[in-house]
Amino acid sequence: MAERFQAPRGTFDVLPTSSHARAQVHDAAAEIFARAGYGRVETPIFESTELFSRGVGDATDIVRKEMFTFTDQGDRSLTLRPEGTAPIARAYVEHGMHKLAQPVKLWYSGSYFRHERPQAGRFHQFNQIGAESIGSDSPLVDAELIVLLDGFLRELGVPGVRLRLSSLGTTETRATYREELRKHLRAHESELSHDVRERIDENPLRAFDADDEGTKGVMESAPMMVDRLDRDDAEHLAEVRTLLDQAGVTYELDGTLVRGLDYYTRTVFEFESSSLGAQSALGGGGRYDGLVAALGGPATPGCGWAAGIERILLALDELGPAPSIDVFVTAPDGRRDRAFAIVRELRGAGLRAELDQAGRSIKGQMKQADRVGAGRVVILDDEGGAAVRDMKSGEQRELDLARVVEAVSTNGGEADGRS
Ligand code: AMP
Repeated sequence: MAERFQAPRGTFDVLPTSSHARAQVHDAAAEIFARAGYGRVETPIFESTELFSRGVGDATDIVRKEMFTFTDQGDRSLTLRPEGTAPIARAYVEHGMHKLAQPVKLWYSGSYFRHERPQAGRFHQFNQIGAESIGSDSPLVDAELIVLLDGFLRELGVPGVRLRLSSLGTTETRATYREELRKHLRAHESELSHDVRERIDENPLRAFDADDEGTKGVMESAPMMVDRLDRDDAEHLAEVRTLLDQAGVTYELDGTLVRGLDYYTRTVFEFESSSLGAQSALGGGGRYDGLVAALGGPATPGCGWAAGIERILLALDELGPAPSIDVFVTAPDGRRDRAFAIVRELRGAGLRAELDQAGRSIKGQMKQADRVGAGRVVILDDEGGAAVRDMKSGEQRELDLARVVEAVSTNGGEADGRS
C-alpha cells in the first residue's frame, strides 16, 4: 500500500462537522460589520517580506522567528502573511484610499501563518477575522472598534471574556520611556531570562510578555508606559475610556499590556477568555498612527484588531449544529431517475433535499433518511405511486407528485423546528 499523507504539523482540516460553527462565527461578524459600515477587503496570502520587516518590525518575535518566508523563481523574498494590518495598510497606500472620505473602514477574514510551537489553540496556519479603520485619530474610532469586538464576542456567547486596555503613547514618548525601562532592566540584568537580556537594547518592552519567574519579578517594579503618557496621549486614553464606560464595556487598565508588534501607538487592547488554557487571547489590537507613513503613504492614523477564529471556537461550548435535511426521497431501482428529478425540484424550491446514491435497499434508504435527520421522506413505489411520511410522528399519506413541493411544505415541512 502506498504511504499515506498527513496534513503538515501545526495545520488542520476543517471538516463538515465543524464548518457550520465556523460559518456562524463568520456570519455574526459580517452582520456586525455591515451594520457599522465596514467594507470587506481581501489581500493576497503572501506579500513581499520587506512589508512585514518594515511594518511589523525587525525586532519583533513575528519577524525574527515566526515567518514562513521563501524565495520565488525571480529571486524575490516572499512571506506568507503572519498578520493582516501591514497588508491592509499597504493596500490603503497602493490604492490611494487617503483620497476617499476618512476614515476608511475595512474588515477581513482569512488564513494567517506563524511558525510558533504548535499546541492547543496555536497553529502554523490559523484564521483571523479583523477590522481596520484608517484615516482618523479620533478616540471614537478606538472605542467603536473595541465595542464591535466586544459585541461580536457577546453575540456569539463566548464565556469568561476579559478586556485589558492600555496606551503605548507616541513614538517620541515611547523612546524616552524605553530608555527608562532599559535602565531598570540593566539594573536587574542577572535576574532576567537569557532571551530578555539579549534584547534589552532592541526590544525592552517585550520583557512584559516573558513568563519566567525571574523576569516577572523584575517587571513588577518596572516603570510603565501608561504612567508616562504626555498630555495629548493621556487625554486620548481618557476619552476612549469615557466612551467605553458609556457603552457599558468593562475593562481593566493594564500597563503591562504591550502587544508584540512594533507599529502600535496610543491605545492597545486585548480580549481574553478564562475558558481557554495557556493561549487565552481571543483577539486584540490597537492604534498604529505611524504605520501608513512607514509604508510610504502620507502621514495617516489608523486603528484595528484581529481575533482568532479557532480560539473563539475553542472557547465556545457549542454553536448550533448544521441544519438537517428537510426531505429525503427514497426510490426502488427503477425509479431512481424520478427521485433525482424530484430532489432537483425540491432544492429549486429552497428545501434541503437528498436521495440515495449508494444503491441501498428501500430499508437502507429509510435508515439513511433517519441518519441525515430528514424531517420527512418522500417514498416512491414501483407502481408510479408516492407517499410522504413525517419522520417524527410516523404519519404517512399518499402524495400527488405533481404537487410535491406544496405537499412536503404544507405537511409541516417548515414547522417542526429542525431547520
Ligand atoms: P495577534 O495579532 O498576535 O494578537 O493575534 C490576534 C489573534 O489571533 C490572537 O488573539 C489569537 O486569537 C489569534 N492567533 C494568533 N496567533 C495564533 C496562532 N499561532 N494560532 C491560532 N491563533 C492565533
